[in-house]
Amino acid sequence: MPAEKSNAIFTKKRLIICYVYNIQIYTKVGKNSVYTKYIPISAKKALHLPNIWDNSTFTRRMKINPGRLIRHIFPDMIWEIDDRDGVFLTFDDGPTPGITEWILATLKQDDAKATFFVLGKNVEMYPDLYQKILDAGHKIGNHTYSHQKGWRMSLESYVEDVDFADTLLHTDLFRPPYAQVTPTQMRVLGQRYKIIMWNILSRDYARTVSPTQCYKGVVKHLAPGAIIAFHDSEKSFRNMSYALPRVLERVKELGLRCKIIEL
Ligand SMILES: [Zn+2]
Repeated sequence: MPAEKSNAIFTKKRLIICYVYNIQIYTKVGKNSVYTKYIPISAKKALHLPNIWDNSTFTRRMKINPGRLIRHIFPDMIWEIDDRDGVFLTFDDGPTPGITEWILATLKQDDAKATFFVLGKNVEMYPDLYQKILDAGHKIGNHTYSHQKGWRMSLESYVEDVDFADTLLHTDLFRPPYAQVTPTQMRVLGQRYKIIMWNILSRDYARTVSPTQCYKGVVKHLAPGAIIAFHDSEKSFRNMSYALPRVLERVKELGLRCKIIEL
């Protein structure tokens, strides 16, 4: 798989995310030469590179395998599910008119089930669409009311945002937006919700990821118990709509089934 180019300036915060979530960073060597290649470096090292702030540093890794540190800091987070023949598709950020219907129709064709981590505000705006997800037998997870980053919020207001969404959703599953949360926020929410993360990140939202890369990145790591993160949003549609039907095909070939998350 070719290295993925990052258009955004590589921020310190992004480096921390790469470090915490064990995302591999690649840096370009041999700049201005025909022998340009990319070598993997640690996030810690990347921080000290002189060119870290320009476009010469790249990230790629769709398979997430959080190390001991992250599992210790966030003991409540669930990254994969012990299941012999199931994979777990998840769709974040919906419901979104035009997109959710497409996902529902595609899943229906294959009799596949999924878990939708919806936003409270979207459910409020599009109650009929939300109802369609429920009617099709899929599972709902809480993705907060307003899609905030936990790092920027007090414990109280973050929990309030989650609980406000729950007055609409009544679910025992929660997924933090951007995976940006504090250990305290997770400890408190972990008492009431099962915190569902993922171990395959489709990166369907990334402009720098092509539809084929998105698809290949997902199927490469398909295995029983995998939790796959897709997005139910306009931004992700180009990649997600290419990858999803093909992923469903591959799931069948492997003798697996797409199930809802029930823990
Ligand atoms: Zn989200």
